[in-house]
Amino acid sequence: MTVNVLFAATESRWAEYEPPLRKEIAALGIEAHIATDIPADQVDYIVYAPNSEVQDFTTFTRAKAVLNLWAGVEAIVGNPTLHLPLCRMVDPALTQGMVEWVTGHILRLHLGMDAHINAPAGTWDPVAPPLSFDTRVTVLGLGELGAACATALAGLGFQVTGWSRSPKDIAGITCLSGDAGLEDALAVADYCVLLLPKTPATENTLNAPALALMPKGARILNPGRGPLVDDEALLDALDNGHIDHATLDVFRIEPLPSDHPYWSHPRVTVTPHIASETRAAYSSKTIAENIRRGEAGEPFLHLVDRTAGY
Ligand code: NAP
Repeated sequence: MTVNVLFAATESRWAEYEPPLRKEIAALGIEAHIATDIPADQVDYIVYAPNSEVQDFTTFTRAKAVLNLWAGVEAIVGNPTLHLPLCRMVDPALTQGMVEWVTGHILRLHLGMDAHINAPAGTWDPVAPPLSFDTRVTVLGLGELGAACATALAGLGFQVTGWSRSPKDIAGITCLSGDAGLEDALAVADYCVLLLPKTPATENTLNAPALALMPKGARILNPGRGPLVDDEALLDALDNGHIDHATLDVFRIEPLPSDHPYWSHPRVTVTPHIASETRAAYSSKTIAENIRRGEAGEPFLHLVDRTAGY
């Protein structure tokens, strides 16, 4: 039987996604009609992105799942018309991209690269950088991305602490959870990496009291979501010198407005939500595998917990 797959992850992505989606779904032996214009009552699976035109799911009467191309689901998880299983994106390329962004930006600050790149010719100031062995990194969020980044940083020699909602046991990482765990995790954060999802419980995780718990001179990297950080509190902490630097990839409003103080702050680095992108060639394998599972009656991968919001 032919499976009807609606690509509702915006027309602009269709040309990029059509060939790998066809290839990966066929590779699993599934006969599929994949298109951007299938009548709602004939759709079996919806490939989705948050800025999709599809916002009302009530007409998808026989659909089995919504397969999100993004890891973050805050823009869809609360949709009151959605009663179908919702799967988020997990794929090795998405994880690898985040590992490279996080380790790269930590090493830039850790090694003091900017001083040498920007130094006038003739500058000879032979101060060796610190070693990772003597430097502590805290990763808030130990899911697919946080755990991979924590493990990579531990592999580079950093002393890594991680924090999550439920207790974890990850080799080489000091794993903490709960409110007391957060305080302990922040207290040892020479670097703090935010890889939490945006939910009501995680908003403003880095607020003024949390920032005050961090060691003086700490550095922050936020590739998670903008609302995890209280922007006013962070700017105050940067201005009074308690926080040394913030490297921010995500913001409450994106693109970051041109008059936002982050753009001109000398100790803020802005990157334009590029820490890790979903790539069609890799994510299509995850989509195809979930369609295979749906057809075989097997549990979907990467199901979102609608109550927890991620
Ligand atoms: P994930 O696998 O769902 O992991 C989320 C982690 O956060 C889990 O460890 C979870 O704890 C923890 N968490 C959630 N709520 C918490 C709370 N209230 N207190 C403490 N810990 C909490 O997600 P992921 O795939 O790693 O992705 C993380 C986020 O990265 C996404 O939601 C998205 O916002 C962001 N992201 C950004 C980019 C980019 O380009 N900037 C790209 C992809 C993703 P448990 O383990 O106990 O459940």
